[in-house]
Amino acid sequence: MFFHSTRGKDKDKDFSSILMQGLADDGGLFMPDYWPQIDLDEIKSQKSFVGVAKCIVPLFTSSSFSHQETLNIVESTWHDFEHKDLVGIKKLHNVSVLELFHGPTAAFKDFGLQLAAAFFNKVLESENKTAIVLGATSGDTGSAAIDACKNYNRIKSFIMLPNGNMSEVQQRQMSTIKSSNVFALRINGTFDDCQDLVKLAFQKRDFLKTDQYLLAVNSINWTRIIGQICYYFYAYNQLFEKENLNFSIPTGNFGNVFACYSARKMGLPVNNISVAVNNNDILYRFFNENDYSKQSVYETISPSMDISVASNFERLIYDLFLDRDSVQCAAMFKNFPIEPIKLDHSMWKKKEGLFSSCKVNDLDTTKMIKRVFESDSYLLDPHTAVAAVQAFEQSDQNNHYVLLSTAHPAKFPKVYEELGIEINAMPLALRGLFEKEESLYNLDADYKKITNFINRNN
Ligand SMILES: *Cc1c(COP(=O)(O)O)cnc(C)c1O
Repeated sequence: MFFHSTRGKDKDKDFSSILMQGLADDGGLFMPDYWPQIDLDEIKSQKSFVGVAKCIVPLFTSSSFSHQETLNIVESTWHDFEHKDLVGIKKLHNVSVLELFHGPTAAFKDFGLQLAAAFFNKVLESENKTAIVLGATSGDTGSAAIDACKNYNRIKSFIMLPNGNMSEVQQRQMSTIKSSNVFALRINGTFDDCQDLVKLAFQKRDFLKTDQYLLAVNSINWTRIIGQICYYFYAYNQLFEKENLNFSIPTGNFGNVFACYSARKMGLPVNNISVAVNNNDILYRFFNENDYSKQSVYETISPSMDISVASNFERLIYDLFLDRDSVQCAAMFKNFPIEPIKLDHSMWKKKEGLFSSCKVNDLDTTKMIKRVFESDSYLLDPHTAVAAVQAFEQSDQNNHYVLLSTAHPAKFPKVYEELGIEINAMPLALRGLFEKEESLYNLDADYKKITNFINRNN
């Protein structure tokens, strides 16, 4: 299996190259050259999440790793999960909550990032090189990236956090990790400032040692998507007796939804994919009004979904709407966001029967949390609650919904304080967080200052 860019120029890449590269040279996103097909009977017969993952991951890594090498990595990659089979499933009426928050940072991002980190390390070992991970985060990516990389001593992680709408739990998850190869930098600026600095660093690369990789951990890295495809097939492994599986997904950068779409292209029987968003509604406007135009970011109680553009969306435009026409795709995204994206009506209609989208504001999100807590004594995190609205509205005996639960509620204690709800089951991942000492490095949003800091610690 080889990979190519949605914009067509960067192609015939093997798995290791796209893993280490992140974004394609032409500014596009990497895609597999074809959709490998899965034998559903084989999925049904698996006894564990890792068993399911072993049917999937090797299909994408074959250009760089032997089948056995990949199986060995898959077997040892996911670690420090509190649930014995990694993923939990909780049945609530006609909805199955797919609990993806049992990992060490209590959000679903552990699935993709732990897999990416394990493969990063394998490539670095075999080439005898080191790497720097540089990322910006306003939510869960940073902590999952730091945690996934902290035990690989060939990798040093520098994660920038803005002054802003991050929960204190999320911040402490990054600042309290005691590891000599991890640095949480609090940048005196906004999330956009941090992202601009990361972009500049990837262009200049003037602070790297010779033969050192600069790795991107943002959600466009294809290996993160592979890790996420696995749990959609796992949901099938657990629930295949239900007819018509539908998925409702709390969405920000569209990585999780694209993993669901990918699983469907690989043969997973999926009826409807519900793209659930908060007030940051660019995807809602696209699916309902054919209007993909950038607006400013609103702060909400589901901060990991507070985005102005969805970085993985180009993949869907390319694969579904443009039938993999990279020339058209390049033209569209070259001028975006200055020129909004609006598809020909007949092209836009291709979403029908597969995608729907709903938008849920903060008030309705808290109402949903309360309702489910009162009726089922089950606590949804604010992101999950956004997607719960459509799942509960649309599900019935003939239409089962799988609700992706992307984070543990204990990451967002303020929301529950205001509702007068006590969180009594604290996950292991978050225990003692407020007793630990923080090490945060305060830096200005200045390229020289940041690269000097990296140099001193590289
Ligand atoms: C990252 C994140 C999301 C959004 O996922 P995307 O793949 O970016 O759409 C939703 N919920 C939580 C808790 C997250 O951390």
